[in-house]
Amino acid sequence: MTRPVPDVPAPADSYLSMVLLVDDQVMVCEAVRRALAHHPDLDFHYCTDPHEAMEVALRVKPTVILQDLVMPGVDGLDLVRAYRQNPALHSVPVIVLSTKEDPATKSDAFQNGANDYLVKLPDKVELIARIRYHTRAYLDHLQRDEAYRALRESQRELMRVNLELERLTRIDGLTGLGNRRYFDEYLAAEWRRSLRTGTPLSVLMVDVDHFKQYNDAYGHLAGDDVLKQVAGVIQDGAARSTDLAARFGGEEFVVILTDVSQAGATHVAERMVQAVRELNIAHGDGKVTISVGAATAFPQPKSEAGLLLNAADLALFDAKNAGRDRAVAAAVAIGKPEQDRAVGPA
Ligand code: GH3
Ligand code: MG
Ligand code: MG
Repeated sequence: MTRPVPDVPAPADSYLSMVLLVDDQVMVCEAVRRALAHHPDLDFHYCTDPHEAMEVALRVKPTVILQDLVMPGVDGLDLVRAYRQNPALHSVPVIVLSTKEDPATKSDAFQNGANDYLVKLPDKVELIARIRYHTRAYLDHLQRDEAYRALRESQRELMRVNLELERLTRIDGLTGLGNRRYFDEYLAAEWRRSLRTGTPLSVLMVDVDHFKQYNDAYGHLAGDDVLKQVAGVIQDGAARSTDLAARFGGEEFVVILTDVSQAGATHVAERMVQAVRELNIAHGDGKVTISVGAATAFPQPKSEAGLLLNAADLALFDAKNAGRDRAVAAAVAIGKPEQDRAVGPA
């Protein structure tokens, strides 16, 4: 059997049209089926029971719906509105097939969401051309939607990666504390803030005792684990939201305590020494301990944060010389007004 040559040939780049006709008259269905037959790009489905139209449409996933207006018990325009409200069908093109040619009915159809209007029975060439046109528009629309979704998704991903990168530039990989760079920025900013507000700023320098021996005895990986545990203690000790615990380098840590006096800083330092002791990590005959140097400054216009760091470092040196496993505070708060000094460490 030879197939008739299609009288409305599909363009070379045509999409596959899924056509759903909703019409109670079997005769109309048969006429449309015949009009679309022998066009491999047109897949035809029909539904003669308007009460099932929604269900059939959801199953067939049409690229074009041909919708009759007058059916027993159901107004075709109610169906059009129902398609428009369904997330799976809301942008599927609807061509109304009507028996009437009058402007009021047409206007009604378009206002209720129809995309096109044809009077039954339409000329075959026109019907096929419109089906193809609407299928193409619909599928292009879906593709744009999909591309847009993908674009938004990749933008979200980029933002997520950027945030993560920014976090990583501030964080020490081993301990999760702030890194040296972040510490430097933080100290400079807090120094300026204290200068403005006239409040004290304290720094603790923390160093693990005899840590070289620990590594030599237990291995570098065990040493890393100790650093993580000690970091946890230091982080807990820097309890206020404006405090910063950071890894200064190697087995040295540093803590910034904002608006904390020398006495307060010494107290925090002593608690950290105690807490590390209580970790009870065996080290030779004893256990892992830390030494801490504490220093406090009242920033002055011409002074620099480096002064505070040096003072804490010297105090740490004193703590080491005095036998380790202890906190030592610098003798005086840097830049503290004379009259306050007379009453001793604040
Ligand atoms: P002190 O009580 O005087 O501080 O003695 P110490 O041995 O701790 O001091 P020293 O500065 O001589 O040695 C520090 C050691 O810390 C050297 C190195 O083996 C170890 N260390 C530095 N960074 C790391 C690290 O990231 N992981 C491990 N496991 N060890 C580290
Ligand atoms: Mg050291
Ligand atoms: Mg050490």
